[in-house]
Amino acid sequence: DSREYGRAVAEVLAEVAEAIAAAEDELGRLDAVAGDGDHGRGMLRGVRAAVDAARASVDSGHGVASVLGAAGDAWAGRAGGTSGVLWGAALRSAGGQLGDERSPLGTTDVRAAVWAAIETVQGLGGAEPGDKTLLDALVPFHDALDSAAGSGTPVGAAWQQAARVAQQAADDTAGLRPRIGRARPLADRSVGTPDPGAVSLALCLRTVATAFAR
Ligand code: ADP
Ligand code: MG
Ligand code: MG
Repeated sequence: DSREYGRAVAEVLAEVAEAIAAAEDELGRLDAVAGDGDHGRGMLRGVRAAVDAARASVDSGHGVASVLGAAGDAWAGRAGGTSGVLWGAALRSAGGQLGDERSPLGTTDVRAAVWAAIETVQGLGGAEPGDKTLLDALVPFHDALDSAAGSGTPVGAAWQQAARVAQQAADDTAGLRPRIGRARPLADRSVGTPDPGAVSLALCLRTVATAFAR
């Protein structure tokens, strides 16, 4: 039931935290090219707080929506920085879309949750695809999930395919010029380097994909 999904979310978040810890320095270097260099540190603080909050929510017997909501609030509260606010709100709205009642969850449900996250990120941050932000990995991820849903692909395989698409899209942000956020004033310097928020997002999505593969 929904509590099983909540438990799975807490476990996979812990794996995401390990992946972010391993990538912390590299994410900081990417962010230092045209930003302020704190992206690795902020992601790690946010995701670790999210893990603790998710586990506490699971221990209280909550379902997936509540677990994601608690994780998102903790992430936004502890990360600092733009990406932390966006990640936190995105997790909360993805959870709200899934709800604590629906089970089992399929590709169509997950696609809708990712779409809710995109709308929240756009509503808060005002970025559009092409502005060189994490949306440039998240929107292709969504679109790949959408195609997979259309062809009846089960959620685990769909997520794995879509995570590969997101990784390629994150790599491809190297060719873009930032049009929003802290990197914009140094836009020229950023060209040739991928967007740190897109890179960290793709890493998180790939980490979840490996959990689905087990
Ligand atoms: P800060 O820029 O406040 O130091 P971080 O370094 O943690 O925050 O995160 C930077 C990342 O946040 C960028 O690489 C980009 O992906 C993402 N970002 C910044 N502004 C926006 C926005 N308006 N919409 C979506 N993503 C954004
Ligand atoms: Mg930064
Ligand atoms: Mg900062």
